[in-house]
Amino acid sequence: MYTVTLIPGDGIGPEIISVVVEIFEHMNAPISWDLVEAGEKVIEKYGTPLPDYVIDSIKKNKIALKGPITTPIGKGFRSVNVTLREKLNLYANLRPIKSLEGLITKYDNVDLVVVRENTEGLYKGIEYKIDDTACTVRVITKNASEKIAYFAFKYAKENKRKKVTAVHKANILKITDGLFLEATRKVAKEYSEIEYEEKIIDNMSMQLVLNPEKYDVIVAPNLYGDILSDLAAGLIGGLGLAPAANIGEDAAIFEAVHGSAPDIANKGIANPIAILNSSIMLLNYLKLNELAEKLQNAISATIKDIDSLTPDLGGKGNIESIKNKIISFLD
Ligand code: NAD
Repeated sequence: MYTVTLIPGDGIGPEIISVVVEIFEHMNAPISWDLVEAGEKVIEKYGTPLPDYVIDSIKKNKIALKGPITTPIGKGFRSVNVTLREKLNLYANLRPIKSLEGLITKYDNVDLVVVRENTEGLYKGIEYKIDDTACTVRVITKNASEKIAYFAFKYAKENKRKKVTAVHKANILKITDGLFLEATRKVAKEYSEIEYEEKIIDNMSMQLVLNPEKYDVIVAPNLYGDILSDLAAGLIGGLGLAPAANIGEDAAIFEAVHGSAPDIANKGIANPIAILNSSIMLLNYLKLNELAEKLQNAISATIKDIDSLTPDLGGKGNIESIKNKIISFLD
């Protein structure tokens, strides 16, 4: 039995997380949940959206499944997501993006992985204002850049991927992105069996839309990786499908790429597939590969039944109909 910290989160978080809990129960997954609360709803109670007991639970269990958490714009507390990644040193954000068989989208041949540096860059949140000028400090370190480069190449090798593309803007940001590229080039030399290329972020965005099938593993500093993974999610049908893992040496947090989607919260139409795909990553991380495959197959079969899908995928169904369909394919 594994104990996994469970954070339902804000907005659509509790709705989609409850689908995972029900489906895991149905599969008799050997997992017991350590339920903790973070986000907007606990601010009044704890004076913070991220109480210490949440961090303590993840440190103890070393693994968590997390629903999305709302970050108010321009005021209030620091992002819970960014704080968790920093405090637990979850330096790698892994976002696999693969076309789903049977789902009609603009592309049917996407199979790439975005590896995003998760702890520094512009997300350090070092901002200040002098009179009418607002500034931010973008921190890129040799240590974090090499760590994420090693993560990307090791992942490529272990998963029989052929190419790593490093994304940058070193033509303009010569010192910061220059340092990032120095790190990826150094590590690339140690993995001569894997093809290595570099792309400037603006060109990369266009290339991904024109020819997504040409990309395999993409490694990027924090902000570029964040934006590219949402872009890539759009290629395969949207945010309702894309999973993510935040991985460090001592802990890992699995979550969907999407946010708390306040526009559709409590309407029963949130797509639970992204968080279910994240829970498949979690099962594989725990080496529960058979269960992961079983759930993957049930989701693949469900995707082919357009009527049971949520509106974001063009279906007429809702969260209940997707859940029930998946459960029917598990039996
Ligand atoms: P969002 O991802 O919440 O929503 C973007 C669009 O995608 C919305 O139209 C939404 O309805 C749709 N969408 C997202 N997930 C969906 C799903 N599962 N099923 C169907 N449709 C879905 O992005 P946003 O609106 O920019 O952000 C809302 C809040 O979430 C913000 O406070 C933001 O900071 C936060 N956020 C949190 C995380 C996280 O916790 N990891 C990630 C991104 C954004």
